[in-house]
Parts: sequence; C-alpha cells; structure tokens
Amino acid sequence: MPYAYDPQNIFARILRGEIPNKTVLETPHTLAFHDIAPQAPVHVLVIPKGPYVTYDHFARDASDAEIVDFHRAVAQVCAMTGVQPGEGGEGFRAITNAGAHGVQEVPHFHLHILGGRMMGRMVA
Ligand code: 5GP
Repeated sequence: MPYAYDPQNIFARILRGEIPNKTVLETPHTLAFHDIAPQAPVHVLVIPKGPYVTYDHFARDASDAEIVDFHRAVAQVCAMTGVQPGEGGEGFRAITNAGAHGVQEVPHFHLHILGGRMMGRMVA
C-alpha cells in the first residue's frame, strides 16, 4: 500500500505558515519547533519539510540531502537545548511514533526530542 500524505495535516499547515509555531531551528529541508503540549522541560519536534508520513517512509523516499539535513538538525537541536550527553548535557530521548500500532497522532513524520528530566524506563 503506497503512503498517502494528507496535505491538511497540522504539521503541513505549520510548514505552510497557516498555524503559528515556536521555531527552534529552520534549515533548508527541516523545521524544529516546541511541542504544544510538552511532556518534559525540553520537548522539541523535528520534521522534514517534505511530505513524508512516517520515519520509514522518509528513510526510503527522501533524498540524501534531506536525510543528512534532518539528522544534522537533530544534533543542532540537542546542542541548542543543552541536552547533549557528550557535551555537558544530561541526555535525551528521541521517539518517533508510526502508524496505528505506533499511536501516531499527526501523519507527518516527526521526531520527538525529550529531555531536561529523568525519563521513565522504556515500556511498550
Ligand atoms: P504523535 O502522537 O503523532 O507522535 O505526536 C504528535 C505531537 O504533536 C504531540 O506531542 C502533540 O502535542 C503535538 N502537536 C499536535 N498539534 C500541535 C500543534 O498544533 N503545534 C505543536 N507545536 N505541536 C502539536
């Protein structure tokens, strides 16, 4: 089944500037912004600007330039929010939910960067 991207999803609307966001970082292919309902002192969403539904969709269909830009942006967000464990920060958790079993709410690929407090042990 091919991925069907819904251009009316909330992150598509944020990318088009129809809904405001608190931007942390913008690069040629990537946008990072604060989650509207933060689950931790640091809760940033990193999204590609391209129309990808899930992480595997992005990893399969995005260009090398988009993929590199995205992951470099993740590193920059970690640096900007002070959570880098190797650089004086106390660490972070990166999560992406995909599809029904992943309980994905917004159907535009996004990585949650969570930090600023001790996380709970990972449970499925
Ligand atoms: P998911 O469950 O899809 O992995 O996570 C979607 C995330 O998007 C949630 O953490 C939710 O709080 C966040 N979110 C939903 N709508 C908005 C919005 O309009 N603005 C921002 N900044 N975050 C949103």
